[in-house]
Amino acid sequence: MRRRALSRGLAPAVLAVALLLPAQVPAAALPAGRDGAASTEEITRAVTAEQLEGHLRAFQDAADAHGGNRAAGTDGYRRSVDHVVERLRAAGYHPRVQAFTFPYGEDHDHEHGEDTSSERRVTYNVLADTATGDPDSTVLVGAHLDSVPEGPGLNDNGSGAAGVLAVAEALAGTGTQNTVRFAWWGAEELNLNGADHYLSDLRANDPGAFEDIAMYLNFDMIGSPNYGRFVYDGDTSGNGWHDDSIEAPDGSDAIEVAFEGYFESEAVAFDEVPIDDGSDHLVFAEAGIPVGGLFTGDTGEKTRRQVDRYGGRAGADYDPCYNAACDDLDNVDLQVLEDMSDATAAVVLGFASSTIDDGAPLRPPDGWPRRSALEELRPVLTGLVALSVVAAMAVGVAVAVRRRARGRG
Ligand SMILES: [Zn+2]
Repeated sequence: MRRRALSRGLAPAVLAVALLLPAQVPAAALPAGRDGAASTEEITRAVTAEQLEGHLRAFQDAADAHGGNRAAGTDGYRRSVDHVVERLRAAGYHPRVQAFTFPYGEDHDHEHGEDTSSERRVTYNVLADTATGDPDSTVLVGAHLDSVPEGPGLNDNGSGAAGVLAVAEALAGTGTQNTVRFAWWGAEELNLNGADHYLSDLRANDPGAFEDIAMYLNFDMIGSPNYGRFVYDGDTSGNGWHDDSIEAPDGSDAIEVAFEGYFESEAVAFDEVPIDDGSDHLVFAEAGIPVGGLFTGDTGEKTRRQVDRYGGRAGADYDPCYNAACDDLDNVDLQVLEDMSDATAAVVLGFASSTIDDGAPLRPPDGWPRRSALEELRPVLTGLVALSVVAAMAVGVAVAVRRRARGRG
C-alpha cells in the first residue's frame, strides 16, 4: 500500500453527532448455500486463526531466512511464492506461476556518494482457478505478496496474502456457479507491477478472458494492530473528503453493499474508506472493472470515535510499523485478520454463487441483505445534524456579538 493519511475529513462536530445515532441495526441473515455448495457459515468456519497464523509464520520464516524482507526479486519473495504454490496444490488447485520482469533499483553507499544501480529482475504472480464455475463471469480475488525492502511485511501484506490463501483453501471443496480466480501479485510495492503485467498481458493475448473478469476484490493490509474495519467505498459516497480517491467503475457499489451486508449480519462495526490509488485495485479500476475490498489502516491517526467502535488507541497510527522492519509476526492482529478473512470468504462465496449478467451492472449477491435504511441514511443524517450544530454555534456567536455591541452602546 502506498503511504497516505486516513483520518482527514471528519470535523470533531461530526464525530460527536455520529455517536448520537444508534450503533448497529441487526440485519437479515445471509442466504443459505446452493445444493452441493457450502453455506456461508460453513465457509467462514473453514477459515481459522490457526490456518492464517500458519501462513503468516511461513512468510516470517521466508524473510528471516533472506535478509529480513520478502521484496520483489529476492529469495525471500521466491520462498513466499513457494509456500503459496505448495498450499494451493495441497488443496487441489493447479496454480500457475506467471513470471515477469520489472525495473529493480538498489541504493548503494559509494565513496563517491549515493549512486543507484538498476537492472531488470524476474519476479512472479501466482494464479489459481476454482475447479468448477463458469469462466465467463470470473470473480478475481487478489493480494500482493511482496514486501518493501525495509522489513518482512507481515501486515503489508502478509495479512492479505494469508487471508486470500485461507479463503482459497476453504473454497477448494465446494462447487461454484462462477469461476473464482485467486491471485498473489508480485512487485506491488514498486509500482503495482504484477497486477499491471497480468492485466496488460491478458488484454493483449487473451482479450476474451479479459472481458470475462466480472469484478476484482483487493486485500492489502487486513491485520493492522490498531485497526479499523474499513470497506472500500464503492458507491463513492464519501469521495469528497479525500483528494487521492479515484472514480470507482459502475458495479463497485455492489461489492461495497456485499461487505457491509455481511458485517451487519454479524452485527459488527465497520466504516467506509475511499478507494484511492494506493494498491492493485487501481489497475483494474482504470480498466473499468468493478473493484472493492477491505482494509484495516496504515498511517493516519485513529480517531476517538473509531476507538469507541473498534477499541485500540486514539491518536496513534493504525499500523505504527507500516513499511518498517518491525512489520513482523507480532505486528498482526490475528483476530481482525480472521474477521476480515471470514468476510472475504462469505462475499466471495456470495458472488461465486450468484447469477452475474454480462453487460448489466454488477448486483450484490442473490438474496444478500441490504444495508438497513438507517445505515443508508447515516451519512446524510450525520451531515444534516452536523450542519445544524454548526448553524446553532454561528447563531450563538452572532447573538453574543450583538449583546456586547449593545452593552458598549
Ligand atoms: Zn501493501
